[in-house]
Amino acid sequence: MTWHTKTLTELSSAIAAGETTSRELTEHFIARVEAHDGELNTFVTRTFDAALAAAEAADARRAAGESLGPLDGLPFAHKDIFCTKGVKTTCGSKMLDNFISPYDATVVEKLQAAGMVCLGKTNMDEFAMGSSNETSYYGDVKNPWDTSKVPGGSSGGSASAVGARLVPATTGTDTGGSIRQPAAFCGITGIKPTYGRVSRYGMIAFASSLDQAGVFATTAEDAALMLQAMSGFDERDSTSIERPVDDLVTGLGESLAGKTIGLPKQFFADGLEPEVKAAVDAAINEYKSLGTEVKEIDLPNIGLSVPVYYVVAPAEASANLSRFDGVRYGHRCDNPEDLTDLYKRTRAEGFGDEVKRRIMMGTYALSSGYYDAYYIKAQKIRRLIRDDFLKAFEEVDLIAGPTTPGLPFGLGEQTDDPVTMYLNDIFTIGVNLAGLPGMSIPVGEASGLPIGLQLVGKHFGEAELLNAAHQYQQVTDWHKAIPAAYQ
Ligand code: GLN
Repeated sequence: MTWHTKTLTELSSAIAAGETTSRELTEHFIARVEAHDGELNTFVTRTFDAALAAAEAADARRAAGESLGPLDGLPFAHKDIFCTKGVKTTCGSKMLDNFISPYDATVVEKLQAAGMVCLGKTNMDEFAMGSSNETSYYGDVKNPWDTSKVPGGSSGGSASAVGARLVPATTGTDTGGSIRQPAAFCGITGIKPTYGRVSRYGMIAFASSLDQAGVFATTAEDAALMLQAMSGFDERDSTSIERPVDDLVTGLGESLAGKTIGLPKQFFADGLEPEVKAAVDAAINEYKSLGTEVKEIDLPNIGLSVPVYYVVAPAEASANLSRFDGVRYGHRCDNPEDLTDLYKRTRAEGFGDEVKRRIMMGTYALSSGYYDAYYIKAQKIRRLIRDDFLKAFEEVDLIAGPTTPGLPFGLGEQTDDPVTMYLNDIFTIGVNLAGLPGMSIPVGEASGLPIGLQLVGKHFGEAELLNAAHQYQQVTDWHKAIPAAYQ
């Protein structure tokens, strides 16, 4: 059976109709991972025994007439940034290679409570720092459309696994683009909700004021189902918002007629690869035929978003990563001479180059004498960027543009040039700085590689955003494309 070509929604109906069972689906996707993960390297840890037990429990619930809802019994995987009780949680780092979490992240608890069946933990850039999944301690992840290309990052394992249909959906996190950019590179749908919509409790922190959990799936409808289950206030995360969760699923079907989409002029300027521009233009035309109006907008400070991010994010990272000191948990160097030696060698051995680079940049930006010049200045510009978006949203309902400036690039092609690597997120980072929800959907291809359209919504506008993506997917087939080697 070709269950892997189906969406979560279709699999859910198939279980409900008695056409399959959670056990059968779980075995099917386990076989997919076993057959294909050798070449893609998307999983760090496989939890197949626990998955089969969870699938049997889901089938038993259904037999007893006690289904937990539409996600009950459906297989998926978690990015290895979410703490999972009793299961290794590495964050892609040697520092946590021996770490077995004593507790579950809220996102993990919530998807478990919805009955979902977790097949394991997916590979990622170390501590979510990267745009290509080449900084992982567990090796590079490959793009299923062309294994000589990167899948994007930092949630590269999660995106590649869904792109290759090894699982129908995965979780991810997005600090500056780590859901949207890999979704674009792997030809799938990814959403990062509004900052504060999903609890960060148990999600290993990179840059706390920017990190937000989200979903990878093959359709907006599937992403809506999962995001619905993951969202909500959590008293264990002081930045989670105490506000009811909108119904993300039943609103999918609303016409877009009369809505206005804003196109930031800065996103269509020089530097955009012509193939990407052509696919994005075609998608905008599709939106016009769905009845939307299109309007050019100005985000005058958006050009500063990458430099602002590379002050704010490393500053927060340098503070967050100070906890990895060899004392409490994680890697510890052998035979330390004294406490200073313990700290130094543990961190020298446990962190990779990109993480060290960020810690140095962040420590520098926060040090006295530079704090005002860099950190405070960056925070001020961050506010201007946010205000630009809010002003634009007075005139438009949604903002659209390319997710990335170019096509998936070759493995190793940008690893020696951090600044070029950082520019991959030029269109996505501003959305995190403003705390807005954003998503990427596949809208074309060039040279056999997928191209993504980024859609950005108002704060807490997830329902509208998902509906806009869903409407596009009702009249186009890009989201149905599966790489030839994984059909
Ligand atoms: N690529 C960006 C970085 O390296 C964003 C990563 C992310 O969103 N986690 O920091």
